[in-house]
Amino acid sequence: MAKKALITGITGQDGAYLSQFLLSKGYEVFGVIRRSSHRGVEDHRLRWLGISGEVHLLDGDLGDLSSLLRIVQEVRPDEIYNLAAQSFVASSWRQPLLTGQVTALGVTNILEAMRLEAPGARFYQASSSEMYGLIQQPMQNESTPFYPRSPYAVAKLYGHWITVNYRESFGLHASSGILFNHESPLRGVEFVTRKVTSTVARIKLGRTDVLRLGNIDAKRDWGHARDYVRAMWLMLQQDKPDDYVVATGVTTTVRDMCRIAFDHVGLDMEKHLVIDPALFRPAEVEVLLGDSSKARRALGWQPEIDLDTMIREMVDSDLVRVGQEYYE
Ligand code: GDP
Repeated sequence: MAKKALITGITGQDGAYLSQFLLSKGYEVFGVIRRSSHRGVEDHRLRWLGISGEVHLLDGDLGDLSSLLRIVQEVRPDEIYNLAAQSFVASSWRQPLLTGQVTALGVTNILEAMRLEAPGARFYQASSSEMYGLIQQPMQNESTPFYPRSPYAVAKLYGHWITVNYRESFGLHASSGILFNHESPLRGVEFVTRKVTSTVARIKLGRTDVLRLGNIDAKRDWGHARDYVRAMWLMLQQDKPDDYVVATGVTTTVRDMCRIAFDHVGLDMEKHLVIDPALFRPAEVEVLLGDSSKARRALGWQPEIDLDTMIREMVDSDLVRVGQEYYE
């Protein structure tokens, strides 16, 4: 019998790559999809990977416990991956309550559905390096104190601790992956890497002249989503649930990441980059750098794709999409 995986957030970047990975392992993949008037377009990432016909999409919402109970009862999953969230930091100041409802309380809803209907399943919570915020140690690992700096990060912190709490309170196999930023051609265009690569492609093809950015001195530890979904799966294959940092151990400024993209298409960054004060955030996370030695040791995981290779892959894929007038 094929193993069954249930993914919330299946239409996002990580949901799409995780689905592809699990299908390649012979899993039957089910995804929770929010009812909306955009039906037909929200599975574009699954279509881009050519797998939209191979996953089962079920109507539900992380805010609606009854829908999650019904889905878990129907599917009887072996593994549940909670990837759904309001995941864009900048929006979290504009929609702080929605962010709390989905990104924080939504985790309790899916944990309750699992506890009541499938307590033997294994659970993965998508935690975030943003929880470290105002960093308390130069390299962040599983024991580094958290200091969230946005409504998003505050909500993710709740999600992390409720996962730990359900593990300790009810003995659930619930693990939390503290993933540092991870990108790909399927990253949303609002995030800085994809904003850069899609705009560089448009500049190269003569559709625009400028790239507007905020704080380009910020530093991030950027990995590739394809590498990171493998770590999620590995966590659920362990006998015991636990928490793991997943990171590359290399940090780079937004400015240097941007230069890789411009250099790749032979353009001079200085001629196109404009700093826009409106894009600075009310509170900034200046630098993140992850220490993933626990995941490397216990899971045998390591990243395979470096930042240069990833940014070049993203620019190339955006050149194709801009050529096709396909922007997402
Ligand atoms: P985050 O780490 O989850 O917030 O991922 P983002 O990709 O949204 O942002 C990464 C960093 O890039 C943050 O420090 C932002 O302040 C910085 N940044 C600078 N300019 C921009 C911009 O125009 N858009 C975004 N999204 N981030 C920017």
